[in-house]
Amino acid sequence: MIIYPIAQNFEDSGLDLINWVVETNGEETVEDWNAVADPEEIIPAFDTLKLPFLDVQQLIQDAREVYLFPLTRHFPLDTWVDGRVVLLGDAAHAMYPRGGNGITQAMLDARVLTEKLIEHGDPATAFVEFDAARREIVNRITDNMRGEGYEVIRRMVAERTDGKPFDDIETVLPLAEADEIFSRYHALVGAPRPGHDAGEATGFRTWLENSEEVTA
Ligand SMILES: Cc1cc2nc3c(=O)[nH]c(=O)nc-3n(C[C@H](O)[C@H](O)[C@H](O)COP(=O)(O)OP(=O)(O)OC[C@H]3O[C@@H](n4cnc5c(N)ncnc54)[C@H](O)[C@@H]3O)c2cc1C
Repeated sequence: MIIYPIAQNFEDSGLDLINWVVETNGEETVEDWNAVADPEEIIPAFDTLKLPFLDVQQLIQDAREVYLFPLTRHFPLDTWVDGRVVLLGDAAHAMYPRGGNGITQAMLDARVLTEKLIEHGDPATAFVEFDAARREIVNRITDNMRGEGYEVIRRMVAERTDGKPFDDIETVLPLAEADEIFSRYHALVGAPRPGHDAGEATGFRTWLENSEEVTA
């Protein structure tokens, strides 16, 4: 379950507006972005989940509207350009939501496309160069994220713990093993994992190492 707080005291209601997303496995279905769900269909999957800071069952129950979004796989395109028309972002490379890449790659597209438009007076040339600079890299990410991607970690942890709570993630998934997986992912998206080559990678501890900065 992913929970995004959107606004406090929304429209002076005294209530906070929260967006939440839950993901379940199922058969792949047709693309439909308007299928409304009943919270009662979702609650059973979370009826044993207890969080100290949130009543998850009540959160689901109180939802104003709930939509069912199918995860569908799209094959990478052979080109994003047709003359003076160009695709970028999700229109060019809708990808499975693995590893938080959709928006990142859309932003990189925008940057590279802007650079090419500044460089060339003729948009058609800029589009072809943009396509050449970005498509192969992004298609590689799209292809790799068609399966579990680096979220294989979630399955490994669930299998090793039999789905039971645990105190220390590193007793379940040792640092070196996690780093191996994270590093493969970083290499795929073209960003070396900080500290990996020097044997100083932090595994799951990145957040802890930076937490002093965040709270200061
Ligand atoms: C629930 C959810 C969670 C996500 N979480 C993450 C995450 O954690 N990290 C991440 O990197 N990515 C995430 N993504 C993916 C990310 O949101 C997309 O990859 C990203 O928004 C793509 O940006 P875009 O500009 O290409 O398309 P969009 O953001 O879809 O923008 C397209 C815009 O075009 C408008 N539009 C459509 N048709 C027309 C028309 N005919 N005329 C005028 N306007 C039109 C739409 O209204 C929309 O505003 C998530 C997506 C979803 C649905």
